[in-house]
Amino acid sequence: GDLDEALDRLVRDIPDWPSPGVTFRDVTPLLADPAGLRLTVEGLAALGREIAGGDIDKVVGIEARGFIFGTPVAVALGAGFVPARKAGKLPAPTYAVDYDLEYGSATVEIHRDAIAPGDRVLVVDDVLATGGTLAAVDDLLARAGAKSAANVVVLEIGALGGRARLDPDRFGTLRTY
Ligand code: IMP
Repeated sequence: GDLDEALDRLVRDIPDWPSPGVTFRDVTPLLADPAGLRLTVEGLAALGREIAGGDIDKVVGIEARGFIFGTPVAVALGAGFVPARKAGKLPAPTYAVDYDLEYGSATVEIHRDAIAPGDRVLVVDDVLATGGTLAAVDDLLARAGAKSAANVVVLEIGALGGRARLDPDRFGTLRTY
């Protein structure tokens, strides 16, 4: 359909970025295209609602591109938006989870008061690679006494096997490469 065509045409591969041997999937052409942006946001909202099986109270977007996609998805679903940020960015008390990257480690945080018990949560990011980031956000929500109803991304890099680190019943992607 139109969404598939937009993803084919508007996600570009950048070889050897950010480091030699890595191919980066760049969604900025998709963001810049009016129909591509709309179709992607609508697609994520529909997929998230379908997997969650009902209404969503909060969309958690992961810094930084998860903010871009997650906020209009929240508006489309009539939900609020909660940023999951890198270490040291959030001003009020947080929960924090450390996780391993290919080289080194990172920390992701949410505000302690951002998720209420019983909230129906949808987590949004742009790309699933190794799955470390989404798995860390799952841990973060567990720290907050919550559990996401669905985790959705624009695209999955299948060869990296990230899906295996997530609950398959709660994961969805608009496209797998
Ligand atoms: P993971 O933790 O290895 O699954 O990496 C996912 C995180 O890194 C997401 O927050 C993505 O924004 C980012 N990421 C990894 N690879 C790519 C890529 O090829 N394009 C855009 N973002 C990427």
